[in-house]
Amino acid sequence: MGSMKTVAIFGLGLLQVQGAGSPAPLPVLKRSDVVFMYQASRQTYEDYGATVLAWGGKPTAKSLEDAKGLKFFGSIGMVTEFSRFHERFPQDYEQAVCRDVEGKPYKVPWLTDHQHKGIPFWWCCTRQPLFRQYLSERVVETVKAGADGVHIDDHLGTAGGIWEGGCFCDRCVAEFHDYLKSLPQDECGGNGIHDPGSFNYREVVRDWLKENAGKKATQHPLWNHWRIYQLRSAAQFMAELRALAAQTAGHPVPVGANAGLLWGPHLADYQSLDLFSAEIPHHAEARRFSDDPLVAYRLADAVGRPLASTASGGDWAFIKEQNLPGLVQGWIALSYAAGHGLMAPNRQWCHTPQKGTHWYEGPKEKFAPLYRFVRQNAALFDGYDNHADLTVAFSQRTFDRAANKIINLCNQLAAANISYRLALGGNEVVDHALPVEVLRQATKLLVLEAQDFSATDQQLLAAAKPAQRFDSVEQALAEVVPAVRVEAARPLRVFPRMKPGAAVIHLVNWGYRTTGDNVAPLKDVRLKLNLAALGIASATEARLLAPGVTPATLPVQQASVVVPELGLWGVLELRQK
Ligand SMILES: [Zn+2]
Repeated sequence: MGSMKTVAIFGLGLLQVQGAGSPAPLPVLKRSDVVFMYQASRQTYEDYGATVLAWGGKPTAKSLEDAKGLKFFGSIGMVTEFSRFHERFPQDYEQAVCRDVEGKPYKVPWLTDHQHKGIPFWWCCTRQPLFRQYLSERVVETVKAGADGVHIDDHLGTAGGIWEGGCFCDRCVAEFHDYLKSLPQDECGGNGIHDPGSFNYREVVRDWLKENAGKKATQHPLWNHWRIYQLRSAAQFMAELRALAAQTAGHPVPVGANAGLLWGPHLADYQSLDLFSAEIPHHAEARRFSDDPLVAYRLADAVGRPLASTASGGDWAFIKEQNLPGLVQGWIALSYAAGHGLMAPNRQWCHTPQKGTHWYEGPKEKFAPLYRFVRQNAALFDGYDNHADLTVAFSQRTFDRAANKIINLCNQLAAANISYRLALGGNEVVDHALPVEVLRQATKLLVLEAQDFSATDQQLLAAAKPAQRFDSVEQALAEVVPAVRVEAARPLRVFPRMKPGAAVIHLVNWGYRTTGDNVAPLKDVRLKLNLAALGIASATEARLLAPGVTPATLPVQQASVVVPELGLWGVLELRQK
């Protein structure tokens, strides 16, 4: 790629590295980008129209040559590189392994089938100096080898395993002291901590578990503070690695991470990330398209970052075992319709507890045409933003406590084709104030669990003046009239997107059937449009584009348009006269 362009695109990131605040960075991905997860051959990149390599390993002369013209992110794993770490520190590696409440090391749960020289893949602690040194060296060598960006897998490091009960190594215990000292006096005293400087949380939890048979460490009264402490440290370390990458390159270096946005507090370090290139569960085992990934795309929108997604290791294992590439085609269409992108499923990591790690080689003839459609019609993707019929505001505190409830609620909106935007309030872990501008634009606002917002966010919500305010999803479902209405019940999802003077409406056929591993074509899909709301009041025709189909022009009459036939995915383009 041209170096001038690199500087221009990444230039705004400089503010992030050097400034105390966190202005939204320019997106490092365009909506029409085709992102590869792993390295592939030159021919394969070309067949898909690849523009970005997201998890590219350490660049070599060969891999850089193959990927010429692609934005190359070199990848580093905080949890998966045990063998490499051991090679680097064969004598001392044990210093850095995580410890459970009994002081014993523990394995990475999804790498239990891996060993190195007879040693299991231990989880290592990102608070231990030796492991931090290792990861820092990896960032430096990746940047020096010529990567345009850095991708971090298992980006929460030690904190990513907190549900396993760790890490209780000496350093994690000792550094908790400073966190405790920062708490109000009565908070510490109320928990029986009279001298934070000598408090040993490992011993406290171990004793408590002995006295409270059947309980888990996560139920201990101080656990929430321990969790906040671990997650904040993870975010701090990511900020350090980002600064190190920039310092090494002599200019800002974009950083991505495998932030599984639907899995707990993965937004903890979003301020140090320019994109998410992440595993998002797609529920392949249900053998139908899921609305869950849309919530992840809307969360990414809510913090102003692009999401290059993939499915989970379990999803890919199911697709491989059942041979259902037609399901994956739907995932690709959904991702681009939502303004993001599923990484090209050329070669995918599969995992089940029984089979461990294995791989899925995706059929190029099924997938590549969809990506080529995106590349050939980039103008239908770039520059457009989600048109929201409804803004849904919730706090990260609510999401932490009841993610499934929020996901289900959003899915009800999706099923009713009410296009939603998320307005996220922060908490102790995710530093994100409710954006004033988003609230100002929200003519229809659904506020969930108002008591969970920070005091400042609650004031903003109280001062907001939406035309309609809802307290329940049922109320919103009953009263919101979407800008694009599907007449008659059809298995369909619509995604209106806008830019000044133009709108595109993505139509994704939701009628997947296992028999045939495809969708049944829909005939005469009638849409009722609120042209003014879409910013195209004077539009009189729509252009219909679809993969493998000759473009057609359809009349817009009495604010209605009829699509004669829809396969998996079509895009209507409408322009202001
Ligand atoms: Zn530790």
